[in-house]
Amino acid sequence: MNIIKGFLFFQIFFISTFLSVAQAHDSSDKVLAKKIFGNFITPTQLRSESLGKYNKGCLNGGVELPIKGETWQHINSKRGRNWGHPSLINFTKDLSQKVADFGWMGLYIGDLGNPRGGPTPYGHAAHQVGLEVDIKFRKPASLDLSVKDSHNDQRYGKPFFKELNVVSKNQTAVNSNWTKEHMNILKAAAQDERVNKIFVNAAIKVWMCKNAGAEDRSWLMKIRPERGHSEHFHVRLKCPEGSPDCIDTPLWNKYKNVDGCDKQLAWWVTDRLKPKKKIITKTVKIKKKYKCAHARCYLPEDLPKACLKTMHIEN
Ligand SMILES: [Zn+2]
Repeated sequence: MNIIKGFLFFQIFFISTFLSVAQAHDSSDKVLAKKIFGNFITPTQLRSESLGKYNKGCLNGGVELPIKGETWQHINSKRGRNWGHPSLINFTKDLSQKVADFGWMGLYIGDLGNPRGGPTPYGHAAHQVGLEVDIKFRKPASLDLSVKDSHNDQRYGKPFFKELNVVSKNQTAVNSNWTKEHMNILKAAAQDERVNKIFVNAAIKVWMCKNAGAEDRSWLMKIRPERGHSEHFHVRLKCPEGSPDCIDTPLWNKYKNVDGCDKQLAWWVTDRLKPKKKIITKTVKIKKKYKCAHARCYLPEDLPKACLKTMHIEN
């Protein structure tokens, strides 16, 4: 009996102590920015403006890319990430029309951003200021897929949309899914004045460096090697006019007229792919003590001040 009483006392003591501790830390100002921005279903009704950095910012006056158009279909629309600055919406529509020149009926479009930009609840560090869009490598056979067939996000049920991977398993080269049409589309995108950079898997850039021909290779510099990005390419636009607080990533002042087909690119498909030895050094231990610095950990106050306003405007 005494044991049971003791156990009950312990339970009550533990629960009440736990609750008071939980309450002390359950302050609403600790809600992560990604949760707040990920929940908006409407943009602010302010003038369209990109604010802050691509990976730390937000968007006013966002515009929605319709789920379907004559030359595009948005994939994974249930995520609600089909919003952007008007310049991004126009760019996306323009490129989807342009691909007719290369024998494509249009484009499958992936994520743009939240209606008010900001961090996304999962998936991206950037895509925050309404100036970035992911475009699928799969060539559309239909631009009228049902909602079910246009989904491949397991959070929304069984995935049906099939991505097209254009890179070999060992990540050193493109595979047989890659076509010259893909390069033509990437070239057309890179030659667009509005574009700042395009991220692709490094193996793709290696192929393009070899096959882009000798004339005018400056557009190749905008194509940047990355990990991942073997099923889609990521387009980042320059800051548009009327967005004085938007912060561009630098363009190639240092490297003018260079194509980026260099040693650094070679490193991406050689040394970078070698397995790393796990040595726990002092630096790693120190690093572990630091707080998470990724966009998924941002608190509202980590974003530019103007984004606090964006977050609190009700429509
Ligand atoms: Zn992206």
